[in-house]
Amino acid sequence: MELTDEVARRAIAALHRPWWKPADPFLLTMLLERNAAQNIRLVRFGIVAAAFVNSLFCFLDYLLLPDVASTLIMVRIGVGLFFVATVELVARTSRSLSLIHVSAATGIIVAAVGWLIPALQSSQQVTLSQFMVFGTIFVLGANLFFNFRFWLSALSSVTVTIAFVYGLLFSLDINETARGVLSLYFVSVLALSLYFSWQLSLERYNSFLHSLQAQIQEKVAIEKGQQLEKIAETDPLTGLRNRRAISQDFLNLTRNGLAENEQIGLILIDVDYFKRFNDSLGHHAGDECLIALARLFSQKAEELGAVAGRHGGEEFVILTKVNTQERLRELADVFCKSVEALAIPHPDRGDDRHIVTISAGAAMTRNDGSMELTVLLQQADRALYSSKFSGRATFTIYDPTEASRDASGENLAELLKHAIARGLVSVVYQPFIDARTSRVIGYETLMRMRDFDGSLISPAVFIPVAEQTGAIHQLGRWAIEQACRDIANHGMSDVVSVNVSAMQLKTPGFPLQVTELICQFGISPKKLALEVTEGIDIALETQAQKNIEQLRAFGVQVWLDDFGTGFAGLAWLRRFDFDVVKIDRAFLHDCESTRGSCMLQDIVRLLRNRGVHVLVEGVETKQQVELLKRLGVNTMQGYYLGRPAPLEAILVHRAASQRA
Ligand code: C2E
Ligand code: CA
Ligand code: CA
Repeated sequence: MELTDEVARRAIAALHRPWWKPADPFLLTMLLERNAAQNIRLVRFGIVAAAFVNSLFCFLDYLLLPDVASTLIMVRIGVGLFFVATVELVARTSRSLSLIHVSAATGIIVAAVGWLIPALQSSQQVTLSQFMVFGTIFVLGANLFFNFRFWLSALSSVTVTIAFVYGLLFSLDINETARGVLSLYFVSVLALSLYFSWQLSLERYNSFLHSLQAQIQEKVAIEKGQQLEKIAETDPLTGLRNRRAISQDFLNLTRNGLAENEQIGLILIDVDYFKRFNDSLGHHAGDECLIALARLFSQKAEELGAVAGRHGGEEFVILTKVNTQERLRELADVFCKSVEALAIPHPDRGDDRHIVTISAGAAMTRNDGSMELTVLLQQADRALYSSKFSGRATFTIYDPTEASRDASGENLAELLKHAIARGLVSVVYQPFIDARTSRVIGYETLMRMRDFDGSLISPAVFIPVAEQTGAIHQLGRWAIEQACRDIANHGMSDVVSVNVSAMQLKTPGFPLQVTELICQFGISPKKLALEVTEGIDIALETQAQKNIEQLRAFGVQVWLDDFGTGFAGLAWLRRFDFDVVKIDRAFLHDCESTRGSCMLQDIVRLLRNRGVHVLVEGVETKQQVELLKRLGVNTMQGYYLGRPAPLEAILVHRAASQRA
């Protein structure tokens, strides 16, 4: 029996019905059907018991009404056998409860009336009138014994009562009082048992309604629970499984989902240049794109027996059972190709393609039992990173033996070639503070580079690659040009420094390049400082030495950066008179220990004894400022005093402090 909405609606209405309203026939049928098997068993047993008890009364027939006893006994036994057989036959052939009930009810009437008619012929009329009292057993049986529907109980018991009352009133030869009292007795028993029968059926109906209600409530609770679970496991935008659900899926797979030679494969997917997609087409289009991809992934995943989820942002994850790396490769390929087949337009990627593509990284668990999702995710992420650096729109399978660095370096080199032309590089300025006056006395120029999708690449990553490929010449010149332009346009306090790579410093035409820029912008050469690092052995680099001398002769300041980290710091100091020496931030950060702070103190003293202007970088706390002031450092730089910021922010800040 199904608990449909219709049933629920009817059950609730029935529970709140007024007392005089009849039962809902639909629900009543349901109730009977629900208990049909049990009721049929009851009737089959009941009719046998009734026939048996009825035949026990043969003894009383024999003792009390000997003149008609033989007929009465025949009727009792005959009718009993007949209806036991009938009920059995109906039960076996039709299995219809109503039909069985009707047969049993007919049996009661026939047994009662069939006995009464010959009994009335007896000459023992007074004895019979007393014996007839047992007729009420038929009435009680019809009403209370068989669980008949109320109307059937009523019909059979009323018929039996009418027969007996009729016999008492019109056939039996006894006095009036006895007639009256006996008839009244029959009617009373009928009324009382009808009332009980009605109560019983009402009770059965109501408890059925309550059980229905309980079932409905349980069903609603289960549905609610399922809904909540679904919400907790679903990504609201795409409807895909979220990170939480995916880790649950992973756990389920590791616990009992894998066959002998199966492993878990994980494909991490990232939408290429998605930030640019959002920026150029708007967030609504971005959402639409993610939804379309999610639909595709979940459809493909279903076809391939995998699970798709959203890992956050524009990242998706596919979890699947695999047995070979080859199979994982095939699957990753299917996902990449199917996204391209969608051909969602992406007009502003920054490369030569114009549709949305994905990069993917895939990894699989190994036989060594490495079953950690985090490990798998990390490996897939590393593979994804290589995909991005080898031109995107591709996939990579994580290979623990292969270093993915080379591929990423190659791609970065490509990016660096076009970085200036594409406007991917910019500069930020970080202030220098005079230790005595706390005044901003200048700025360091720091280069910034963005990937096509807008993400920042750290100079610590791209400068070494630019040095390897030679792109540093172009980039370095561009940085100096920016600094000169900003000095010319905005003054920029006393001095602006620019970092110069050893590669530039070793190049013969470098001083000329710088002097040309200074002349072009018409600025004072003193306002430009070049920060050189001690990363090369200066003693061996005669060209670098010549260049430094030429630049200084022209009036450009030359500063020694990251002092203390290179291998020939003192040799450099002996060779040149640097305008400023910047002590590497590592020394300041080591000052927590007494040994460290002694070291810094020694270095500062050594430099000051040589008459060098000392700058300490990497100042991050107030305590460090105090310490440096005590040590007699001239200039300070660090996040505590000012973070690197774009020109506009510097100008706003300068204007504000001038007003104050
Ligand atoms: P650097 O010359 O030592 O530059 C200082 C670096 O320290 C900058 O990192 C700056 O953001 C960071 N910094 C500043 N204050 C603090 C501080 O209080 N605490 C800490 N922990 N760090 C601080 P950035 O910008 O990432 O640059 C890293 C390196 O990249 C620079 O080190 C420099 O060697 C190189 N670089 C940056 N721009 C250029 C450039 O235009 N040309 C060349 N050749 N190299 C550059
Ligand atoms: Ca520097
Ligand atoms: Ca430095």
